[in-house]
Amino acid sequence: MTIAADAPAATDLTWQVTRNLAGKSPQDRAKILADPGFGTFFTDHMVDICWSGKGGWHRPRVQPYGPISLDPAAAVLHYGQEIFEGLKAYRHADGSIWSFRPDANARRMQRSAHRLALPELPVEYFIDSLRQLIAVDGDWVPSAPETSLYLRPYMFAKEAFLGVRPADKVAFYVIASPAGAYFHGGVAPVSIWLSTDYARAGRGGTGAAKTGGNYASSLIAQAEASAQGCAQVMFLDSAEGTYLEELGGMNIVLVYRDGSLVTPKSDSILEGITRDSILQLARDRGHTVEERPVTIDEWREGAESGDIVEVFACGTAAVVTPIAQLKAANFTIGSADAAAGEITMSLRKELTDIQYGREEDRHGWLTRLDAGGGDGARPAGDAGRG
Ligand SMILES: *Cc1c(COP(=O)(O)O)cnc(C)c1O
Repeated sequence: MTIAADAPAATDLTWQVTRNLAGKSPQDRAKILADPGFGTFFTDHMVDICWSGKGGWHRPRVQPYGPISLDPAAAVLHYGQEIFEGLKAYRHADGSIWSFRPDANARRMQRSAHRLALPELPVEYFIDSLRQLIAVDGDWVPSAPETSLYLRPYMFAKEAFLGVRPADKVAFYVIASPAGAYFHGGVAPVSIWLSTDYARAGRGGTGAAKTGGNYASSLIAQAEASAQGCAQVMFLDSAEGTYLEELGGMNIVLVYRDGSLVTPKSDSILEGITRDSILQLARDRGHTVEERPVTIDEWREGAESGDIVEVFACGTAAVVTPIAQLKAANFTIGSADAAAGEITMSLRKELTDIQYGREEDRHGWLTRLDAGGGDGARPAGDAGRG
């Protein structure tokens, strides 16, 4: 089913911009940016684009950030037809604002849309919506080391209809939230909890789509992890409980003594852009990279024999998180005070150096979001991209 192909193509994106006259003062904004935390504060504006079966994508707007009015029968509230993305805007030393592989997020959102029977937003609309938001909220991108403006595009079924079918009215939004350095006082390895009672996704399910339902189903396992003193939960495959899948919101990578990097292969894993980028950097350095099924026993035995020397999780929010220990009901791998691995930390540094413009962007991963000109830059409002 390709919903987008059946819908009339939206022809042009003429943005309607309504400034927020009650936006934060520069002083209030500075106070927030000094200690933004994560996901608590939001910028002054948001983007929204409508979609209907008849009209395709239409009425792109930038408007003051604020509550959304929804019919109580809106399909998303009942059947969870929703998808989202997450990426960051980084301020470089010269003040310019960049995002990292936003085209990959846009394409992943199209794949998520396909799975959730939502319309596919064209890649250039996705990127243009980020530029439109930065054009009015660019001052919200912090400049302290390892800080960023987290961008959250999302799409949901807003049609008021309780019948079960793909909604005919859909909304796409982008909101933005300043984010502090994820790790205060240096990157700290974490302990994770192995969930054996719960799975996050099953074969043929929605595991490979970035949809709220996957997170809803992971929360009880995440609560169990917290009760065990662990930062995150690790899921296994739902059929046998044998193979590694991923954490609630991060992918996992194992580093072997021979320098090879292995990440689990499964149809129900969400393919992270951080993982893909880290693995590319590892390949560039000459490491062997494998994506293949990995059993929990392989990890356990490999850690015991010394074949597996480092394990890390990766995702946009924390970038790369070293894993010190895996705790399960009846065994433990590693120890809580294990130090961060050298390869883990050096790949993390290389990736963040590229993202913050401190190292050459040799793969062409950066896209400029502000209208300052230069490499890949486009003025906001230009739907095209280079
Ligand atoms: C978003 C997400 C990731 C990480 O993806 P990135 O593109 O690296 O941020 C991993 N797993 C799940 C379940 C996710 O939702």
